[in-house]
Amino acid sequence: MLPALSMGLTLAVLVFGVAAAQPAPSARVRTAPGVPIGTAALPSANTLAVLTPSPMPRPTRPSWTGWVTPPTRPPSTGRVTPPQPARQEPVTADPVTAAVMTGMAHRPGRWVALTLDDGPHPRYTPQVLALLRQYRVRATFCLIGTQVRAHPELVRQIVADGHWLCNHTMTHDDRLRRRPDDRVQYEIGAAKRLIEQVAPGARVRYFRAPGGNWSPRLTTAAAAQEMQPLGWSVDPRDWERGRSAASIVRQVHRQLAPGSVILLHDGGGNRAATVAALRVLIPQLLRAGYSFGPPA
Ligand SMILES: [Zn+2]
Repeated sequence: MLPALSMGLTLAVLVFGVAAAQPAPSARVRTAPGVPIGTAALPSANTLAVLTPSPMPRPTRPSWTGWVTPPTRPPSTGRVTPPQPARQEPVTADPVTAAVMTGMAHRPGRWVALTLDDGPHPRYTPQVLALLRQYRVRATFCLIGTQVRAHPELVRQIVADGHWLCNHTMTHDDRLRRRPDDRVQYEIGAAKRLIEQVAPGARVRYFRAPGGNWSPRLTTAAAAQEMQPLGWSVDPRDWERGRSAASIVRQVHRQLAPGSVILLHDGGGNRAATVAALRVLIPQLLRAGYSFGPPA
C-alpha cells in the first residue's frame, strides 16, 4: 500500500508541477483588441506594414471639365479593411474616368438623379414619362441611336416634358472601349447628331458608355463633343431576368444616399418590373424629402 501511495503522490506532484509551469491557455491567446491572434507579442514587419497604410497621392482635379468631384480618400481609422470587390471592371487609374465609373458626380443635399437607359422604347418609355409627369419630377434619358431613329416622336416627347438627354451611343456596343478610334467617334458622334436632328434645339448634356465600360479614351471623346461622362452610384440591376419590382425598390433604398445617380432602364427588354418599381419609388423618395435633378 505505502509504495503505491508514495508513487501516486509523486505522480500527482509531477503532473501538477508541469501544469503550473505552463501558462493557462486563455493567457496565451489574449491580445489587444483588433490585433490578430499571435501577433501581439512579436509584431512582424509584415504586420506593421498592413496596420499602417502608406499614404496615397490625392488625385488631381481634372482641368478639362471641372464638373466632377475627385474621389477623396476616407479618413484612415487604422483598421485593416479587406479589399472590396470592384463593382465594375477596373480599367483605369485616370481619376476622371474612375470617378465616372463609381458615379461620384455627387451634389450635396437630399437630392437624387434618376437615369433611364437603352430607350426610347415604344411600350415602356411612354409609361415612364406618364409617371414622371404625374409626380412632376424630371429624369435623364440615355438614348441609343438605333432606338432614336425608330422612335423619334418619343425623343421629342422626352424633350417637351423637360427631361435631360444623354447619349448612349449608336448601337450600344459593350466593347466600345476596345474599338478603334474611328468606330468610337462614329458611335458617339452619330448618336449625338441624330438626337439633335430629331429634336431640334435639344441639348445632349451627357454621355454614358454602354454597359458602363469606360476608358479614358471614352471620357475624353465625350468631353471633346461637349458631353459630360455620366456614371451611376445606385444599380438595382433591373435588367436581370426575373428581377421583381419589389427587389428593385429594395435595392435602390439599400444603396441610396444623398446625391445618388440611380441607374434604371426603360428599354432593352421587358421593363414592366422597372415601371412598377418607379410607381412605388418616386412617391417614396418625394415623401423622404428628395428632389429630382440632373446629375451634377
Ligand atoms: Zn445601356
